[in-house]
Amino acid sequence: MHSRIRRQTLSCDGPQQLSKIAKVIDAKKTINAFEDAFVILKKSTYTDKDTLALLTKKTKMFLLEIFGNIYQRLGQSSVVKGPGKKITYKLASLDIIVDKKQMPLGFISEHLPSYDKCDHCHELLCDGTGKGSMVIACGHGYHESCFTLLNGKCYYCEIFLKLGIKNNVSSLLSRLSELDKSKSKSKSNLREIIEADEDSLQDQRIENEDDILEVFRKNKQALPKAEQAYSIALEKFLNANIVI
Ligand SMILES: [Zn+2]
Ligand SMILES: [Zn+2]
Repeated sequence: MHSRIRRQTLSCDGPQQLSKIAKVIDAKKTINAFEDAFVILKKSTYTDKDTLALLTKKTKMFLLEIFGNIYQRLGQSSVVKGPGKKITYKLASLDIIVDKKQMPLGFISEHLPSYDKCDHCHELLCDGTGKGSMVIACGHGYHESCFTLLNGKCYYCEIFLKLGIKNNVSSLLSRLSELDKSKSKSKSNLREIIEADEDSLQDQRIENEDDILEVFRKNKQALPKAEQAYSIALEKFLNANIVI
């Protein structure tokens, strides 16, 4: 407000003028020409109470049906063994078949989680004795006392992870050693080629001018370099003569 008044007044304006301008600005602040011109106000379809009540009932029915299906199909999910040791899971509540990669870690381990038993002592998780129990993120379930005995770790999943890390590391090491072998092989090949090339140059004896011309014909770079070497040598020779 203060900056607006400053923008619209002059330094020579007196208190009465300032007060007048401030009142005009205050009256104008509720009038927004831009908003009036461009903002389209719409009445929401769902502001009506009856519509909202209908939607609420529909949502309730949808959720009731979903959870009803889940309850009715409890325990009907199963492991489906496909060809070549391929394992998939039929999720009865959702009525879909999924790959083991889409399941929690415990379903990929060697010991599949039990449906209603502790994965350590293999007794019922909820046996009515009030023993605390839990199903952890990997899908394995334990009595609280059993999980404490296991130092708060799921050993089935730990073994699976350790084995996976070991296999991946050994695979990486074998690939690196193969890479190293192929590199040293290519290095030795290169050395052989260089040595063979050096031998061939040594064998190539220059006996007359025809041999020199033959070398220049084979190697297009040799002639300009030879000319360069000749001019340097000539310059050195001439300078040496001047000193004498
Ligand atoms: Zn237990
Ligand atoms: Zn586990």
